[in-house]
Amino acid sequence: MSSPRLGSGKLVIATHNAGKLREIQALLAPYGIECLSAGALGLPEPAETGTTFVENALIKARAAAEAAGLPALADDSGLCVDALGGAPGVYTADWAEADVFEGGPGRDWYMAMGKVEGKLAELGPDARRTCHFACVLAIAWPDGQSAVYEGRAQGTLTWPPRGTMGFGYDPVFVPLGDNRTFAELDPAQKHAISHRADAFAKLVADQFSA
Ligand code: IMP
Repeated sequence: MSSPRLGSGKLVIATHNAGKLREIQALLAPYGIECLSAGALGLPEPAETGTTFVENALIKARAAAEAAGLPALADDSGLCVDALGGAPGVYTADWAEADVFEGGPGRDWYMAMGKVEGKLAELGPDARRTCHFACVLAIAWPDGQSAVYEGRAQGTLTWPPRGTMGFGYDPVFVPLGDNRTFAELDPAQKHAISHRADAFAKLVADQFSA
């Protein structure tokens, strides 16, 4: 069965993250879509209680579509390390939660990268260092229909972290076919090969092709 289509018109971007909103707005600009953010509409952020990226992306998209009465797009992403059985996976952001970071509770990415490295070290020097970033984009319509697009960026983990660009786990992720980390690539280079770009290409092909 083919997915429902967005057409042109309003779309709620179910994120309260200004960076994600900017990136998604730019990607959808050529398709005549008017993006509204869940934050600007005052929509609540639902708890991400799913155990997969697909479940969490759908929870966020469905909550926004129901509350706004408009189609809504959400993304969920994370780092999956093969030797750790796919961890941290949907808990990628949680692994960075710190009680004290820069004076208060916050997300300490250096600590989170260290946690991944520590768990690999526990497995010994021969542990596989392959991993991927995953990104799931979900669109939900107020009538209950939905569509899901999954993207990946395959790579390996390096240590110590390198580079100052990007965010999150970028300084330890070396994409397949390169020897620089995501944090050593300029944003345009990263966006050309990232998991988010892969998922968006699938969304665009399905939603906006003739
Ligand atoms: P969420 O999708 O907002 O739940 O966030 C998942 C977490 O995955 C983010 O907070 C980042 O730490 C990590 N992550 C997702 N995409 C990237 C990326 O492109 N680079 C580095 N880290 C990422």
